[in-house]
Amino acid sequence: MLTRRSFTQSLSALSLSAAQPRRPNIVMIYADDLGYGDLGCYGHPTIRTPNLDRMAAEGMKFTEWYSAAPVCTPSRAALLTGRYPVRSGLTRVLFPYSEGGLPDTETTIAQHLKSAGYRTAMVGKWHLGHLPKYLPVRHGFDTYFGLPYSNDMGPTPGPGAGGVAKYSPLPLIAGDKVIENGPDQSRLTERYTEQALKTIRGPKNQPFFLYFAHTFPHVPLYAGEKFRGRSPRGLYGDVVEEIDWSVGQLLAALKETGQDRNTLVVFSSDNGPWLPRKENGGSAGLYKEGKGTTWEGGMREPCIARFPGFIPAGRVSAAHGNMMDFFPTFSRLAGTPLPSGLTLDGIDMSDVLAGRSEGSERTFFYWSADDLRAVRRGPWKLHTAVNFSETQPIAVRQLDKPALFNVRVDPSEKYDVAAAHPEIVQQLLGLLKEHSAIPQAPKQR
Ligand code: MG
Repeated sequence: MLTRRSFTQSLSALSLSAAQPRRPNIVMIYADDLGYGDLGCYGHPTIRTPNLDRMAAEGMKFTEWYSAAPVCTPSRAALLTGRYPVRSGLTRVLFPYSEGGLPDTETTIAQHLKSAGYRTAMVGKWHLGHLPKYLPVRHGFDTYFGLPYSNDMGPTPGPGAGGVAKYSPLPLIAGDKVIENGPDQSRLTERYTEQALKTIRGPKNQPFFLYFAHTFPHVPLYAGEKFRGRSPRGLYGDVVEEIDWSVGQLLAALKETGQDRNTLVVFSSDNGPWLPRKENGGSAGLYKEGKGTTWEGGMREPCIARFPGFIPAGRVSAAHGNMMDFFPTFSRLAGTPLPSGLTLDGIDMSDVLAGRSEGSERTFFYWSADDLRAVRRGPWKLHTAVNFSETQPIAVRQLDKPALFNVRVDPSEKYDVAAAHPEIVQQLLGLLKEHSAIPQAPKQR
């Protein structure tokens, strides 16, 4: 029998749950060095990605989505903190002998969602510091299983580098412990997927945030036995097709467990493709250049988001977005206010995802390591310095005169139109000057 007190409590619980926004699960899948043109739904002629194609057909595919850096470490720092990498000091790739990592002063989206009641899990490549104090479990993730850095990284310091490698050979880490040395890389995608499925099939009393950062198609490439030798595109295609299989496994598990309509799944890549590796490198589609450069091919990424009932099916969005937008966007969807006093460079894109907005005219800055090289405002992109990945090491050339491209008209950046638009050039130079004064943290190396 209900007492007056328990009846009042029940009513109050009901009204709270009715007023509270539904907090979705969030799955962020991040490929490594996958190019804009490497998926079927982004136009690749021979790589078959039926699961990602279906995810795009059931959700939203972005055509103007950027990584905040053209290489691994800073791209990931920006994704997890919602801030340009210079703000955290993670501007360059970390190596096995590096002593730096993501500073404690940074707030990750995992920490933020955890404080809002999410369980949090990370699977895959971290690359924000491999020393125990920098690992994912120290930055808001309840669990971690994966490689702390790239799969090509050996223990030998590069020319001029100091320090001693902590691990040798490549370590596979669970939590903060090395559980294997030199794991069989052909089984990594399969093993990561098993771990991700555990998170999806875990307790249902809390929403979850899963950050699944694939090791591939970063070189060296390894595909699982079931995928090897199957793609008309060769080994690179085998590897991408296995990642697509993994996405299919996750989507199927969400359906099986009744969480399909309460889960946002996002798929993207940390930076453009590694072009000079010939058959082992990917495709940036119609964009110029690839990894390590601030041309569009280095930083424009595939991005697919699916959340049935929230994101309208079958949309292609040309809204200008970037990886730093996920922090405020996930925060809004989780119904939790942003941490007070935190400066974010991303904006909340949930109205775009819901189909209520086409996006806004935005300014985006192209940093490469500690150099601010280009800016985009609306359709205009201005370069002050450029580099090309065909020349190794990648040499930077300061331009005598800035080069201006209309990347909506000329997405391949072939026609410099600076001479015809001196006022746009001046406006963009002003934006670069202003942005170059943002606070920069000590460099993590
Ligand atoms: Mg990468």
